Amino acid sequence: MLAAVRPKNAFEVALENFDIAAGYLDLDHDVREMIKYPERVLTVTVPVRMENGHVRRFEGFRVQHSTVRGPAKGGIRYHPNVTLEEVKALAAWMTWKCAVVNIPFGGGKGGVTCNPKEMSRNELEHMTRRYASAILPLIGPEQDIPAPDVYTNSQTMAWIMDTYSMTKGYPIPGVVTGKPVCLGGSLGRNEATGRGVFYTIQSACDHLHMQLKGATVVVQGFGNAGSVAAHLLDTAQCLVIAVSDSTGCIHNKEGLDIPKLMMHKEKTGRVAGFPGSEAISASELLALSCDILVPAALENTVVEENAPYVKAKIIAEAANGPLTPEADAILEAKGVFIIPDILCNAGGVTVSYFEWVQDLQHLFWETQEIYNRLERVMRTSFHDVVKIRADRSVSMRAAANMLGVGRVAEAVKLRGLYP
Ligand code: NAD
Repeated sequence: MLAAVRPKNAFEVALENFDIAAGYLDLDHDVREMIKYPERVLTVTVPVRMENGHVRRFEGFRVQHSTVRGPAKGGIRYHPNVTLEEVKALAAWMTWKCAVVNIPFGGGKGGVTCNPKEMSRNELEHMTRRYASAILPLIGPEQDIPAPDVYTNSQTMAWIMDTYSMTKGYPIPGVVTGKPVCLGGSLGRNEATGRGVFYTIQSACDHLHMQLKGATVVVQGFGNAGSVAAHLLDTAQCLVIAVSDSTGCIHNKEGLDIPKLMMHKEKTGRVAGFPGSEAISASELLALSCDILVPAALENTVVEENAPYVKAKIIAEAANGPLTPEADAILEAKGVFIIPDILCNAGGVTVSYFEWVQDLQHLFWETQEIYNRLERVMRTSFHDVVKIRADRSVSMRAAANMLGVGRVAEAVKLRGLYP
C-alpha cells in the first residue's frame, strides 16, 4: 500500500522557493550553504501563573534566519498552531522580504504556542514578559528587533520594550517596532502593512492597465492587514464584496460598507452578523467572482482543492504564505497575477524600519512623510520585481525571491566567510 503523502510544512516550502530562486540566479554551492538556513534557533519554556493559581507552561521560539544585511527583524506570533518549523519559515521570508524592499535588516521571527483568545490580559502580560526575558540574550536594537504579528499588537510590544529596558536599566525603545506612538512608535505603523498592500495593488493595476475604481474585491482575514487594505481599496472606490475572519464570512454583491464594518468588528469582535450582509462559507468566499482577492489570514488557506475555483484576476498576498505550492502552480497556469507575500506585505517591515530609524535618531516624522516614503519603497520594489519577471520570463514569486536572495547573496560574498 502506498503511504499517504505528508503535506510540506511551511519551512520546507520556504526552502523549495529558495532553491528555485538560487537555481535561476545560478548561485554556487558555497553561497547557498551560507544563506539558506537559520543562523540561530532558540526554543524557550515560558511558565506562567494563570488566574486559577496554577502554573502553565508554554513553548516559545525566536529564530534569526539572517543577519547578513543587518540586524534580524521580524514579528512575534501568538497562536495555537505556532511550531518551530513555521517560525523558521516566517524568519526566512523576512530575510528575503527585507532584501526585496532594500532595507538594511536581516530576517527573524518569534512565536509562542498559545491561544490568546482564551487568556486574560494579566496572563498575556506575564507570558509576554517571561517570553521577552527568555529571548533577551538574542534581541536588541542592533541585534534583533521584534514587532507584532498575528494576535500580538502594540500593547505586546510595550511590555517587551519595558521588560528589556528594566533589565538594562534605561529606556531602549529601539528594541521593538510597532510600539504605541507615545513610547517611540511611528505614526502610520499600525496601518503600514495594509497600506503597502494597497500600493502594490495600485501598481499591479497600472501594470496590467486595469481600472482600480469599480474593481470588485474579496478579503480573507479582516484583521490588521486585511481591514486596512479593505478600507483603502474602499476609499479608492473599489467594491469590497466579501470579507471573513476566524468566526465567519460575509457577502454583499453591492459592496460592504467598510467603515461601518470596521466599527462592527471593533464592537462585536467579529465580522459575522454585520447588518446588510449574508453569511457564506469559506469555500464560497474564495470562489466568488471578483477582480482582486486579498488573502490576509494565515498560511495555506488557498490549497490544491479550492484554487481551481478562484476567479480573481489579481491575488495580493497580504498574509505570509497563503498559497500552497500546488495552489500557486494552478493559479499561475490560469494566468492570475500574483503579488507575492514578500513584496505585497512588506509595508509593515518598511515602516518598522522607519520607526527604528526615528528611535535611533530621537527625531520623529509626520504621517504624510511616512506615507510618501512607504509609497516610494513599495512602488520601486514592485517595479524591480516586475522587471526581473519580464527579463527572465519567470513568475512574480520567483522574481521576488530572486531579488531578495540575490541581494543577500551579494552581501554575503562581500562579507566573506568568518573566521
Ligand atoms: P491579525 O491577528 O490582526 O488578523 C488576522 C485575521 O485573520 C483575524 O481577523 C482572524 O480572525 C482572521 N483569521 C484567522 N484564521 C482565519 C481563517 N481561517 N479564515 C479567515 N480569517 C481568519 O493579524 P495580521 O497582523 O493582520 O496578520 C495577518 C497576516 O498578515 C499574517 O499572515 C501575518 O503574518 C501577515 N503580516 C502581517 C503584518 C503586520 O504588520 N501586521 C506584516 C506582514 C505580514
